[in-house]
Order: sequence, then structure tokens, then C-alpha cells
Amino acid sequence: MWRTRPDSISVWKNPEVISRLNRYYQLIHEEKVARYLLAKALPIDIDLSSDLPTLWEEHERLAREFPSYIQEYDKGNEAKIVPKPVESSFLELKVTIADEMLKKCCFCERKCEKNREEGELGVCRVGKEAVVNSAFLHMGEETVLVPSGTIFFSGCTFKCVFCQNHSISQEWRNHDGKILDGVERSPQRIAGIAGALAREGARNINWVGGDPTSNLHAILHVLLSFDVNICQLWNSNMFLSVEGMKLLIEVMDFWLPDLKYANDDFAKRMSKIPNYWSVATRNIKMAHDHGSGEMIVRHLVMPGRVKADTYPILEWCAKSIPNALVNVMGQYRPMHKVQRHREKYADINRGITREELTWARDKAEELDILWRPVS
Ligand code: SF4
Repeated sequence: MWRTRPDSISVWKNPEVISRLNRYYQLIHEEKVARYLLAKALPIDIDLSSDLPTLWEEHERLAREFPSYIQEYDKGNEAKIVPKPVESSFLELKVTIADEMLKKCCFCERKCEKNREEGELGVCRVGKEAVVNSAFLHMGEETVLVPSGTIFFSGCTFKCVFCQNHSISQEWRNHDGKILDGVERSPQRIAGIAGALAREGARNINWVGGDPTSNLHAILHVLLSFDVNICQLWNSNMFLSVEGMKLLIEVMDFWLPDLKYANDDFAKRMSKIPNYWSVATRNIKMAHDHGSGEMIVRHLVMPGRVKADTYPILEWCAKSIPNALVNVMGQYRPMHKVQRHREKYADINRGITREELTWARDKAEELDILWRPVS
């Protein structure tokens, strides 16, 4: 039995928080219907055995229709009633497209094009089956989210040298392909886990890892066999491809994206990732402008990087995603490869100073960013 965190209740006394997270607020009070359930009730007008370009064409048509569909549904009393799923739905179309994409994987911008259906592995080393590391009611997430029904997948599209979860993100599978940390789970089993979390009192189902992107197909399958009216939350590094984002936009109610670096060279050195800034900001903006728009951006302040990364990141957030709340995080610790190769990573081999965190938070304040209720 979980104990309530007092700030997870008092935060809702803040009218600005309610205003920016209005649909989420109503959803946790069962006054709205989760977006994935609406996507399950929207019929398609196409044969699902059509080729991929034709499936995408239908997807684009429904994606254009979805915002007015949800708006209409939200109006009036009807919004409290969960609509009946239809036989061939928008969600089923998404599942079909994701299954096709798995054969030449491009869920994230690495675009490995491996046939994961046939057992090939790309950079993330996640195969066809999702590997679940753990699932529990998380009381340590941001105020508005707890208790959060968190499902951790093994595997990640990044290779962060300072990763605190490296045993589940990078070292969960050995060179022979053997899984060392986590258990393969079917979508039906994961739906059962999500259902149990909802019954225990979760405010949301929090898809995370490692990173959840590699399991996009599995998560869409879970949603197809799940029917609880609960917020779906995407907790991610946001390095998805445009196609990956398109599959998610209509089904996620809440976004919890990281925004780590403003400098691509530093991103490459830290996370072995190319083109970080343009991809991450493109996707966060997509979720803000075309998705639910309800989000908390997480920015981890790094040692010696306040001016190079934190300031431009906060400036971008203030200008480009004004509805977002921002968690300005001060818990960076040197871990993983930073600890193993101290000289190579001497510049980040320390925690941040109190002064650095103050500079970061003062900047957020100066830019009128809503950070206090979630930091
Ligand atoms: S999810 Fe990304 S890293 Fe993993 S196989 Fe697909 S494209 Fe590659």
C-alpha cells in the first residue's frame, strides 16, 4: 500500500498547473477519456493488408481528423463515457504500421533498418519481444505524476557515459544475445501489469526504460488489448523518427521528454548520438503543437555546462513550447563510464555545485518558465 506524497496533492492548488495540464487533470479525475481509447473507437476506411504507403495515407487522413474528433468528444457529458472500440480502428492501423516498421526498424533516428521481426538487432539491441525490467508504483516522479505506474523496459537508443541505469539500458544483454537484466513479456502480459498498477492507484501508465522507443510496436499492441481509462505517459529521450512520433502523437496523453544538450558535439561525446538538438527539439515541438501538449520537460544540469547547454535549452523552452513545465534537475552524479575512465571524463567527474543549480533555476525564473511545482 502506497502512502500519499503531500506535494502530489497540494500541487493542484496551483491554478497555472491546472490550466496547463487541464485535460490530464480531468483524466485523473475520470472526467475525460484517455486518447488511446478514443483512437480505438475511430474507424478506418481501408483494408489493413494494404501496402505501407497506403496505410500511411490513411493514417495521415485520420491524424488530421483526430484533433476535432477529440474536441467534439470532450464536449458535454458524453466525454465521461468510454466509447466502444470498433473492429478496425485507428489504433489497429497504428499497430499494423508499427509491425511493418519492425521489419526494417526505423522507430528512432538511428534508422538501423534491421529486421527485428527475424531476430536481427540494431544499436539498441532490442529484438521483437519487449524485455521488461521492472514495474512498480513510482513515488519519486514529479508532483503531478505520483503515484506513477512505471513500466521499465530494458534497452536504450542512447549510450550515455554517465547513465545511472546502465545495467538496464546498456548492459542488459551480453554479446551472445543472452538477456542479463529483464524478462521477455508478451503485450497481453504487459497489459496485465498495467492493469494491476491502475488498480493500485496509479495516476498514469509511465512507459520508460532505458528508453521505450525500441518497444513502440509492443506498447501499441498493449494498448490494443488494454481498456482501462488511464493516462498514457511517454517518458523518453525523444530520439524517435518522425514516423515513430506520428504513431504516438494521438495515443499519448502526457509527455515527459528529456532535453539534455544544446550542443551536438557534446551530445555525441556524452551519449554517442548524432544530430541530437534538431531531432529532440523537433519531436518535443511536435508533441507540444500536435499532440496533447501536456508535458514536463526534464533538463539535467551538467557540471560546467550551464551556459553551453542549460541557458539555450531554457530559452528554447520559453519560446517554442510555452505550455510546458520544466523540471530543472540538480541530481547529476558521475556514474558508469565516467567513474571507470576518470581522466577521459574529468570535466564531468563531479556533481554540480549549488551555484550552478542556482544559475540554472534563476534563468528559468527570469524566462518565466513554470518550474517550481515540478522541480
Ligand atoms: S529502435 Fe532505433 S536503435 Fe533500435 S533497432 Fe530501431 S532504429 Fe535501431
